[in-house]
Amino acid sequence: MAESTQLISDRSARRRIAVVSMHTSPTASLGQDGNGGLNVYVREVCSAFSDRGIATDIFTRRQSPDDPAIESLAPLSRVIYLTAGRSLDKYALYSEVPGFAAGIRSFAESEQLQYDLLYSHYWLSGEVACLLRPEMGAGWAHTAHTLGLVKNRTLASGARPEPAQRIRVEGEIAQQADLLIVSTPDESDDLVRSYRANPERVFVVAPGIDLATFQPLDRAEARRKIGYGPGRLMLFVGRLERLKGVEVAIRALALLRDREHDDLRFVVVGGDAHQGGSQDGDESEKERLKAVASALGVRDRVDFLGSVAHHELPYFYAAADVCVMPSYSESFGLVALEAQACGRPVVASGVSGLRSVVRDEVSGYLIDGHDPAVYAERIGRLLADPELATQMGLRGRLLAQRFSWTRTADRLEGLFEDLIESSHARVQAGVRHE
Ligand code: UDP
Repeated sequence: MAESTQLISDRSARRRIAVVSMHTSPTASLGQDGNGGLNVYVREVCSAFSDRGIATDIFTRRQSPDDPAIESLAPLSRVIYLTAGRSLDKYALYSEVPGFAAGIRSFAESEQLQYDLLYSHYWLSGEVACLLRPEMGAGWAHTAHTLGLVKNRTLASGARPEPAQRIRVEGEIAQQADLLIVSTPDESDDLVRSYRANPERVFVVAPGIDLATFQPLDRAEARRKIGYGPGRLMLFVGRLERLKGVEVAIRALALLRDREHDDLRFVVVGGDAHQGGSQDGDESEKERLKAVASALGVRDRVDFLGSVAHHELPYFYAAADVCVMPSYSESFGLVALEAQACGRPVVASGVSGLRSVVRDEVSGYLIDGHDPAVYAERIGRLLADPELATQMGLRGRLLAQRFSWTRTADRLEGLFEDLIESSHARVQAGVRHE
């Protein structure tokens, strides 16, 4: 959290953006309950905007009675906690959308604030922006982070498909938002082909990374920090949900252990989602994975460590011999980027988001499909040849250096400025949004 607490709106800001992040907060603990890349993205972009004189008010839900009404994220960035659907899971939150939109409206009125732009994240927030945009007279930019139709194309077995309501709302957003910000060219194609978005409104802006935090560290020192000694380690970091494919990595571990790698451990960082994305509703993904590991005789080789604070993760990446990411879908994959920035090779599924981060045979391996034997073979190659792993790690660091949150914010700022100017001109001319 920023040291200077800016709980009152700073009127000197060059621009003022209302950021809608209804289902999750940038201040939430990462790696559990669906908190991950989106939260990091919102936090980093709003901090970078603050550095350049752009104020953001991030509207999210109050999740516990201890949440304050307003919290400071950076000198010009505030998180505003609205009371709406506190204990509801994200699938039940849709009914709270009008109440949440009303909360933003009354906050803006009570502070007499005019926002230059609405910037929504994920489909629920997009629906909130859809309601607010006509009356606010501001431009509207939206980042989907993931798309229901894309997720449903490559579901893990037993995973729950994304509901039709989400896909309908995503279609509405794709038609109505002024700017659709995506992380990769593939995501742009998905929006245009599957949701019939106007390609002129879709812009690819790569997410970034904090290279000062995520950097190579001494392996032995990193292991001491996290309580591990010698022996080989493979690492997973992320939310425990079906789509992350952790089961594939556990099956690969079992195959590797049957061969010569009997010192190999699998470190799993990330908390359980209350709903692990399975068809069985409330089933815990962590408990399911534990059962899989037990059935394969490797339960004693898998450490479920729960979620770890973002700034502590460099030690985990640095301690690992290889980072695995067998996801069924991923619109980007910050974890793969972080592992590479820490100089570690990544063995990942070849889904489109991960293709934009990992280079096959250069910084790791990309694998089509989810056959544990193929994962075991690639992980085994790296374990058997530490020099190859080191070289891939070095190249991964170089690739990671192409990404930065400053660059992400530069690109967003340029797009947003154009939109703000055209919507101000439109308001002055008395033209309403269609
Ligand atoms: N993360 C974290 N602590 C954890 C698990 C995850 O800080 O215990 C962070 C991780 O470092 C990454 C983000 O959560 O920055 C996950 O982003 P990613 O794009 O890999 O996955 P998503 O959550 O978007 O599916």
